[in-house]
Amino acid sequence: MPQIQLINPADESLLQVVFHTSEGEVDDAVDVARIAQRRWAALAPADRAAALRRFAGAVDAAVEELAWLEVQNSGHPITQARWEAGHVRDVLQYYSAVPERLLGAQIPVAGGIDVTFLDPIGVVGIIVPWNFPMTIAAWGFAPALAAGNAVLLKPAEWTPLTAIRLGELARESGLPEGLFQVLPGRGDVVGNRFVTHPGVRKVVFTGSTAVGKRVMAGCAEQVKAVTLELGGKSANIVFADADLDKAAATAPYAVFDNAGQDCCARSRILVQRSVYDRFLELLEPAVKGVRVGSPSDESTEMGPLVSRAHHNKVSSFVTDESQVAFRGTAPDGPGFWFPPTVLLPASRTDRAVTDEIFGPVVTVLPFEDEADAIALANDTQYGLAGSLFTRDLGRALRVSRAVETGNLSVNSHSAVRYSTPFGGFKQSGLGRELGPDAALAFTETKNVFISTD
Ligand code: NAD
Repeated sequence: MPQIQLINPADESLLQVVFHTSEGEVDDAVDVARIAQRRWAALAPADRAAALRRFAGAVDAAVEELAWLEVQNSGHPITQARWEAGHVRDVLQYYSAVPERLLGAQIPVAGGIDVTFLDPIGVVGIIVPWNFPMTIAAWGFAPALAAGNAVLLKPAEWTPLTAIRLGELARESGLPEGLFQVLPGRGDVVGNRFVTHPGVRKVVFTGSTAVGKRVMAGCAEQVKAVTLELGGKSANIVFADADLDKAAATAPYAVFDNAGQDCCARSRILVQRSVYDRFLELLEPAVKGVRVGSPSDESTEMGPLVSRAHHNKVSSFVTDESQVAFRGTAPDGPGFWFPPTVLLPASRTDRAVTDEIFGPVVTVLPFEDEADAIALANDTQYGLAGSLFTRDLGRALRVSRAVETGNLSVNSHSAVRYSTPFGGFKQSGLGRELGPDAALAFTETKNVFISTD
């Protein structure tokens, strides 16, 4: 039976062996899910809402357990991992309000009445990456379940443990058997079967742009609904009139959080030329002050990279030719450690400027004026996130409107909240997750005309 050996990224010890789901087992899971989904959708909305609140309660009681699983499996710092597990609870709680609020419309027409219903799509396949195994899964499964669907969740090969535990918690909290199934396994087996199985009516894919394109092409074969949350190469734009202390103090956390393994990482810092040198002076102590160390330590801010293979990929961006401005620290010894690294690329077309590194490496480039900043920020195939720092409100609004990206923060380094929409422009994705309307993406609108003649 195919299996994978999970390695603790902080010390390279063998953590656990996880067996992989076969294609035939996916097919069996779809059959069970279809039956469970029909029963789930037939429940009273208040009962579905209550079931989701019980699931949220079970997650709440397991926050500590889930957090420590993520520490060991993914190398996330414990304080961050606790936040992630609590976020899953909050997302479930937020979407538990949906079943009783899936409102259709009554449309004025001649000769009768016209009403719409929001029907569940059926069985939804969710494919997630390894960088935020719990939270990204919840962004899909919570609104999908709330809208009356069944969910099959495929975690990433390296990081399945919290997803598997969430599947158990769902059952233990009383969600119907087969409604939410976690199927660990390979992308080209389990994930691909979600795409090719006619019984899976929507695929939610979060991962690389390259695989996302294949998933989209595969879904086209069956005109299957698809949401894509893909890569990013986001800009952090610092204007000369900004609070430079704040911009420099927060910039490391905008890119080195989760060791840079963040689709929203602001991995291109763009600084107006007149304050470029001053900004770098302020940035250096901020970068060197990032506490990199054991994920189990309560004071750790940044842990290791997820795997040896990923470490090799990130390392390829920092070569003998790279112009390294300064670096932070990282532990010696076993573990996939990589220090926060600031590069001053020679050109705007340098690979470190154009490619998603997905590690703790940031480039700093100067720009001349507002138009140059916008052009530079938009000079990428991606459009997921970004920040801008300025004290000029008009400029903040102008630049926010001009930057082609789905999630922006002004004078702040993060824009992600479960109550606000999330997703990308350009090759960063298709569709939006989170926010008040997310569950609608897991419904079909049915229109019914009733004659009164
Ligand atoms: P990846 O594309 O290699 O894998 C993502 C998932 O897809 C995994 O579960 C994998 O097993 C599965 N997969 C692989 N091949 C498949 C196939 N042929 N069919 C179906 N599924 C398949 O990405 P990754 O390396 O795990 O994650 C990193 C990438 O994810 C980065 O590009 C990052 O920016 C992106 N990401 C995006 C978001 C977002 O919300 N936009 C969030 C997190 C990560």
